[in-house]
Amino acid sequence: MSSFSSLNNMIGCERKLLLSKHFRKYIKKSDALMFGTIYHESIEFGIAKGIQMLEENGMIEKKPLLIEMLARLESFLITNDINVYLHEQYFEIDIDGTEEKFLGYIDGVARYMGEDWLVEFKSAIVADTTTVHLDAQVTSYLYACSKTSIGTKMSVFDESGKPSTQIFDPVKINPVGVIYIINEKKMNKKVRLLKNGSISTAKNQGCSYADYKQAIIDKYETLDDAPEKVIEHLVWLEDNEPAPKLKVVFTRRSKQTLDNFGKRINGLVHQEFALKKKYYTEGLLVALEHADYFCTKFGCNMCDYKVACVDLEQNKSKLESEDLDGEYFEGLSEENE
Ligand code: SF4
Repeated sequence: MSSFSSLNNMIGCERKLLLSKHFRKYIKKSDALMFGTIYHESIEFGIAKGIQMLEENGMIEKKPLLIEMLARLESFLITNDINVYLHEQYFEIDIDGTEEKFLGYIDGVARYMGEDWLVEFKSAIVADTTTVHLDAQVTSYLYACSKTSIGTKMSVFDESGKPSTQIFDPVKINPVGVIYIINEKKMNKKVRLLKNGSISTAKNQGCSYADYKQAIIDKYETLDDAPEKVIEHLVWLEDNEPAPKLKVVFTRRSKQTLDNFGKRINGLVHQEFALKKKYYTEGLLVALEHADYFCTKFGCNMCDYKVACVDLEQNKSKLESEDLDGEYFEGLSEENE
């Protein structure tokens, strides 16, 4: 089974694909990623579900942000008469010459101006829409709909308890394109502290009014006890904090683009299968030897698995005899903090 993100790794870094397979369960989701998940669940199941998830994940302070973002999204959909009538739609595409499949989830399907559109919901601190028309994830959704039905994913179990996937309520959609909706969060960088421990008054530090006010109270207990310059900056923030926005792009793909995408997917699924087979039969270290990577410094810095990756590269001989289990990886994570 190949997903868009695993194939994306096949293009950029096969090492990352292997390390994520081996160590994924030890990686804790960042708060930003968890908030993205909660935002999606709230769109599908309602705000009560979102608040419950915030509580469960110790993020209840984000409740006002979540409510504000959902209200903004709802207002946009109602104003523009966009009716999202399906959520979280699963697809599986057969790949020629293998039992493997290409699979994924589409955030939603909407009726707009008498036509069906797929919907992609994103949240970001700053919404950058410049590359949406080239976005391969969007292409993968449209390709999926051109090939197969989509529906709700269900697991069924045979007599031996072995699970298999079924698509419930399958529906064949012929979307004209994707409505890509990015909901901006508020500025949320940490309040900057100077070396002497005082609170910065730099206008470009990117923190919110609410966070800045809280930092003052944490440090001085009351606003009255804070230095004048700090209070001036708080007032400036109140007047100048940019309002978060919703950015929307309607994007389509030509038949030619979808055909080319299908050919590329086909090759990558075969390639991924070969690499995974090596991993399962010969182990991580042997598979890593066969993994191509063509990474940039930026890409590696953003990678969740960089600590393990560098360590594996530098300590090959030492590690060859060791069992690379979770404990090993957690040790690496702590060192990196
Ligand atoms: S650190 Fe770089 S080379 Fe290593 S797995 Fe991550 S992206 Fe790939």
